[in-house]
Amino acid sequence: MVDSTRVSVVPDTPPALPDFTQWPSFPFEGDLRVKRLDDPVPVEPPRKGEGHRECTACNAPDDAYIWVGERWRVRAMDRPTGLPMVLILESRTHLDLGDLPNLLAAELGVMTVRLERAIRSLDGVGRVHVNRWGDGSAHLHLWFLARPYGRLQLRGTFLSLWDSILPPISESQWRENLAMVAAWLAEFGGRPLAEPPRIQWQAPSSLAESAGREEFEESVSVIESEEETPVTVDVTDGSGDAGEPGSVGVTPTVGEPTLTDARVGNVDPRLPATSDDPDRR
Ligand SMILES: [Zn+2]
Repeated sequence: MVDSTRVSVVPDTPPALPDFTQWPSFPFEGDLRVKRLDDPVPVEPPRKGEGHRECTACNAPDDAYIWVGERWRVRAMDRPTGLPMVLILESRTHLDLGDLPNLLAAELGVMTVRLERAIRSLDGVGRVHVNRWGDGSAHLHLWFLARPYGRLQLRGTFLSLWDSILPPISESQWRENLAMVAAWLAEFGGRPLAEPPRIQWQAPSSLAESAGREEFEESVSVIESEEETPVTVDVTDGSGDAGEPGSVGVTPTVGEPTLTDARVGNVDPRLPATSDDPDRR
């Protein structure tokens, strides 16, 4: 009797909590339990930019980005978040990671290194996490998340969660950081669009409103970015200047300047020539 009762209870017993809930970096404490998994679907729904869903990236104008090049663009969130910097590198062409021709694949490496270095050079940044999930949109986009220096508790897996938990950094600091990264990238080509911070006479609330960029409202944070809304597919933007698999002429290069060097104009002149921006997102 007793045994059969126990058996019937087993299916409802939640799995034990994994060890990471005890890690110092785990953002939550208190009573937790593991969610029940939904049944797997036989066919996954289309992501943004797939099937009949519109592609947010393809539809976004250049001025929605902090830096744009011939084949890559970099954008920020629409407002400051908890981390000192969160940026997204996108290809201009509508391709996913595994579909990149060799030229773009090589440039992706160059851009990743360049952007990581630019963000890491900001004051107060201890590390830059580079992530690619790709569950929300079919259009290639890499996340760059800056971990505040000294915040050891933010190391590792849960940094993207902490971005939504920490109080947002100041608007002025955020804009200054964006301008510095944009200027850094522009030293290699492309066009910086993030401007240095202006003197702010407005109240913080009205500033947030004027920050604009509603088209990216859904990506206020890494977590929210996973939420999506239906759209329509843009087939035209596909291949364009991507180059052929065999045409890897890019010599991913080489001595990236420090931020100070970049401001002084000490840059590698080869890059802009070989590929506009072997630049960035
Ligand atoms: Zn697209």
